[in-house]
Amino acid sequence: QAFAIALTSFDAKLAYNSTNSSNKEIAVITGGTRGIGYAISQKFAQNGIRCVILGRNKETIENSINNIMMINDLEHVGMVCDVRNYEEIVNNISKLGNINYLINAAGISSDNLVVKLKEQEINNIIQTNLFGTIFMCSNIVKYMIKQKQGGCIINISSVIGINGNVGQSVYAASKAGIIGFSKSLAKELGSRNIRVNIIAPGFIETDMISALHRFGKPEDIADAASYLAKAQFITGQIIIVDGCLNI
Ligand code: NDP
Repeated sequence: QAFAIALTSFDAKLAYNSTNSSNKEIAVITGGTRGIGYAISQKFAQNGIRCVILGRNKETIENSINNIMMINDLEHVGMVCDVRNYEEIVNNISKLGNINYLINAAGISSDNLVVKLKEQEINNIIQTNLFGTIFMCSNIVKYMIKQKQGGCIINISSVIGINGNVGQSVYAASKAGIIGFSKSLAKELGSRNIRVNIIAPGFIETDMISALHRFGKPEDIADAASYLAKAQFITGQIIIVDGCLNI
């Protein structure tokens, strides 16, 4: 299911046909409906990059697209896609043209001591955070390689994946997995000029941690993502954005 707000019709290949939108770079952003992913979408739109926002809910995607459409008159696009579902990813990605950036920001947390977590909760965390990131990368990288124009992948991990935390062992495992995966992928793809980097946020004020006091802002992560998008000689690195948090 893909839709482009402000486009009257949608066909197999996304209609990158308006004068303003042609020849613009394209970023696929998972989790672009809320929080960090949404802030990154806003930042990239401000930088003149067209955004393809993935989420599970059509209404929230439409809201995000409508909002970033107000930044400029580029055709940003929404896709209903669950990152746990490999087939859904394959189908949606096949509708895209060139892809220059992939930002994996979709993620969930379900915090509890490991002995109290149910099997389904464990599966859900790993499938969304780790498998989702791997599924998205493995599919989009194929297109980036074919395009022969290089590319930039930014995977959102967490300081918890580096330091660990009580009640977050499975979440930490998923986020540590993203680090090992991304560093390896950077080595696999360096010769093709496809850069892969990781952002490890500290506590950022989004729906995920609204119960806590204010820490970082989603925009702080978007600034780091915007920098990595431009930094042509940085790959395989972790940028920690946590305001010097000490867990
Ligand atoms: P939010 O809860 O605000 O947003 C999560 C996003 O992920 C939503 O857009 C949601 O879309 C999407 N999402 C969740 N599950 C799926 C799925 N199965 N398929 C597709 N999209 C999905 O989270 P944050 O913005 O806080 O977090 C973004 C990333 O940053 C996550 O990976 C998180 O682990 C990481 N992070 C966050 C920190 C924080 O303090 N907030 C700290 C460190 C890391 P929808 O529900 O519409 O489908």
